[in-house]
Amino acid sequence: MKIGIDLGGSHIGVGLINKDKILDSKQRNFVDSDKKNIKKSIVKYAIAMIEEIMKEGNLDKNQIELIGIASPGIISNNTIIKATNLSLSEFCLCQEIEEKLGMKVQIRNDAKCAGLAEKKYGSLKKYKDAVFICIGTGIGGAVFMNNKLLEPLRYEGFEIGHMIIEKNGRQCSCGKKGCFQAYASIKALKERVTKILGERGDVSGQYLRENLLIKDNKQVQKEVEDFLNYLKIGIGNLIDIFEPEAICLGGSFAYYEGNPILDRLLKKIEEKDTKFSVGKVPDIVIAKYKNDAGIIGATL
Ligand SMILES: [Zn+2]
Repeated sequence: MKIGIDLGGSHIGVGLINKDKILDSKQRNFVDSDKKNIKKSIVKYAIAMIEEIMKEGNLDKNQIELIGIASPGIISNNTIIKATNLSLSEFCLCQEIEEKLGMKVQIRNDAKCAGLAEKKYGSLKKYKDAVFICIGTGIGGAVFMNNKLLEPLRYEGFEIGHMIIEKNGRQCSCGKKGCFQAYASIKALKERVTKILGERGDVSGQYLRENLLIKDNKQVQKEVEDFLNYLKIGIGNLIDIFEPEAICLGGSFAYYEGNPILDRLLKKIEEKDTKFSVGKVPDIVIAKYKNDAGIIGATL
């Protein structure tokens, strides 16, 4: 058995994992006071939840093979170098947990973790060449060629959310302008649509999905159309660069399975002007594990 930790912009989740099964899990949302010393809060919650899960399962250290962490941002040498949505830099989370619990801890970028889970157990299992796109707060990616996760030597690479798709475009949290994720992440869509709807504060994913379908709100419909067009451009770029057999859409966008908005995207991708490549459009599949892919993949 292994323990997976999913670190997000606003929450931390810890799960007891056996292959692709989550046997037990705990969640904690960060409140404003946690953010004042976010490093300390993350370590405190992670350790408390790991200990709780082990106690409940009557487990001792020797029964846990590994603790794996899926974290947003740039990871190198088991350290979070930079995670802009957590306002973190140079954070040795693994070392802190290792020292306190005396167990082996590994960390990797969350989109790579989620991609690994889908490749090993989920929607990408039968494909050799595939691209995983995690569409949520930002946009992350993982690329597989001949069944292997592509990994640069120094950092994680494949930061597909920060490829520029609009010159002098919208400001991205990374400092650049016109990044893919400033147009085609769920966060970007949510921010624009909730403003039109006059909502204050955060709304649920379900509320957003339902409101995107209200046809008589022309402003909302324009935002949905723009969002889908930018997603199509980004996906078309990835098809031309990697020529994958399949593209898997994950993150909170995976919850659009069965929603007419996903059907509209699939139709757009089939259009002639999506790609240069002569091959047929890759299979577009939805992440089997949806938002759980990260916590499962953290153990891989
Ligand atoms: Zn960016």
